Amino acid sequence: MQPVPLPAFSDNYIWLLADDAGHALVVDPGEAAPVEQALAARKLQLQAILLTHHHADHIGGVPALLQRHDAVVYAPHDERIATAHHRLAEGDRVQLNAPSLQFRVLEVPGHTRSHIAYVGHGMLFCGDTLFSLGCGRLFEGSPAQMLASLDKLAALPGETRVYCAHEYTLANAAFALTVDGDNPALHERHAQVRTQREAGQPTLPSTLGQECASNPFLRVDSPAIADWARGHGARMRVDRFAVLRAVKDAFRA
Ligand code: ZN
Ligand code: FE
Repeated sequence: MQPVPLPAFSDNYIWLLADDAGHALVVDPGEAAPVEQALAARKLQLQAILLTHHHADHIGGVPALLQRHDAVVYAPHDERIATAHHRLAEGDRVQLNAPSLQFRVLEVPGHTRSHIAYVGHGMLFCGDTLFSLGCGRLFEGSPAQMLASLDKLAALPGETRVYCAHEYTLANAAFALTVDGDNPALHERHAQVRTQREAGQPTLPSTLGQECASNPFLRVDSPAIADWARGHGARMRVDRFAVLRAVKDAFRA
């Protein structure tokens, strides 16, 4: 079962998974129209909706989808998500019969306080926590929280495929090159994503192995990032992450 990216808004992806019998699942449907189009075109029945966090560009399509489909909605414990049938916490499992899929839930606060990720079948759906060559902004969490969340994701097997919710990779590469410009893995990934974007293709999924080698936010322990951060007065590990995030927030390519 290969997840299909359904583009939404300007740079979101709604990930669609379907089995051969036509049972489908979507992750973070910020709008309903792209999902309805894909379901109709592929003759699929929507069975389940997985939500990672409460932001409108991830949940906005849920009410409209529930009007037309008998789908079960999984979400974190957060009253800002009104339409949920099952609330999930760290270590919980999502067990679906059709499509036949099991996911383990990880709590990954930082972008928002209740953000969760879904892991299963070699796939990671991480919403706005981890991006390819970047990470989410800290809207509701501390740098320490976000760093712990990213550490949790980085500990998954290197071959895990990373399905983020936004196509930010090329812009992230521009920033990453300013802090880790001597990293051959980053240059390799940059060349790859440039080619993919020129061909109109998504840059996702990446793999966790790729991210650990090229994403500066997963490389706070590398000598290159440690050196760069020292130049900004940061010595402690969490401070290296914090300064990286703060400088990225102000960065314009
Ligand atoms: Zn978000
Ligand atoms: Fe988002």
